Amino acid sequence: MKQFDYAIIGQGITGSILATKLVDKGYRIVVFDDFNLSSPSKITSGLINPVTGRKFVKSWKSEELYSIAQSTYESISRLTGHIYFRPTEIHRIMMDKQQEDLWLERTSQPGYDEFLSKELMDTPDYFISKHQIGITRKAARVDITQFLNDSANLLQKADLLVNQKLTQEHIDFSKKQILSTYQFDQLVDCSGAGSFLFNELNRNDYVRPNVGERLLVKFDNYKYDSIVKANHFVIPWSEDLFWVGAHNDWHQTTPTPSDKGLNRLTNFIEKWIDSPYELIDHKAGIRLTTKDRRPLVGTHPQHSFVHFINGLGTKGVSLAPYCVDQLLRFLLEGVALDPEIDIARIY
Ligand SMILES: Cc1cc2nc3c(=O)[nH]c(=O)nc-3n(C[C@H](O)[C@H](O)[C@H](O)COP(=O)(O)OP(=O)(O)OC[C@H]3O[C@@H](n4cnc5c(N)ncnc54)[C@H](O)[C@@H]3O)c2cc1C
Repeated sequence: MKQFDYAIIGQGITGSILATKLVDKGYRIVVFDDFNLSSPSKITSGLINPVTGRKFVKSWKSEELYSIAQSTYESISRLTGHIYFRPTEIHRIMMDKQQEDLWLERTSQPGYDEFLSKELMDTPDYFISKHQIGITRKAARVDITQFLNDSANLLQKADLLVNQKLTQEHIDFSKKQILSTYQFDQLVDCSGAGSFLFNELNRNDYVRPNVGERLLVKFDNYKYDSIVKANHFVIPWSEDLFWVGAHNDWHQTTPTPSDKGLNRLTNFIEKWIDSPYELIDHKAGIRLTTKDRRPLVGTHPQHSFVHFINGLGTKGVSLAPYCVDQLLRFLLEGVALDPEIDIARIY
């Protein structure tokens, strides 16, 4: 029997950050992940956007989440030698004159001047729209693909990553054992939409799946090197590829790329960008979102040694570092969880 302080289910953004932090603190851990599952972490654009929505409103705890995310990803960079966290700007193309006026009004409100450019600029010829562009500052892009690869490599080298889809039958709660081989003290479930432990707690549909789809495309003439947001994002990706997305669907229940998603995103490209393009890749992932748009962190009501971080919705890149921080302070130092994210609110 192999003994561990912590068993973690899921090696997405959340499980990877948690695993790295626990190893750094000297705990014995093991991580289980089904490598064949498609997950949002594998296709995310990795953006941290402090001002969101059509009305340009600052997102929840934006300054605090940004700062914890920066220090978390930078501390992992020091272990691996790869830079993940890059501060950036987001260029927002206005939809109409009304949005242009709203942007200018927002910039004069307290707390917004450091995030939004005071002036709008003309839209370059790459775009069909002639409405102006406002610049969101203090955003960031995190290279999640590299981060997940590095995290998997580190865990694999230490023989701490098990490629296995876990089900209820694999866990013996009375003996605290997984697959009759791995003995754990604490179990943390970071398996997102794949969580079987979480599903039984999801009373009154507090949590809903939302499928996000994205494309990777090559443009003939489009060379704009900033991140652009109109209805969707267009993000310079690797070499000559651009990430385009995300299309959101509340009705789909499987992470299958759909014709509807493809049509929406290709129509978007053709409406906004003045260039022929070639479709290279189309993928989908399920994000779990909560009724109150806050994540779910804390302990199982019946099993005091089972804990969750889930429900990160469309903001896992900035929420995961915060939620891991909260859970570790709760488990290791006895500090109460932020009540807004405490899973106790759903049962
Ligand atoms: C198209 C798209 C774009 C996005 N863009 C952004 C963005 O720009 N910024 C942002 O902040 N967020 C974005 N998101 C959301 C973000 O990706 C998610 O919030 C985040 O990835 C959630 O991470 P997680 O680790 O909690 O869960 P997941 O990514 O769901 O990871 C769960 C892991 O658990 C594993 N797993 C699941 N079930 C089992 C099981 N039974 N046994 C073993 N392993 C299991 C899976 O293989 C996976 O590796 C985007 C999402 C999508 C779909």
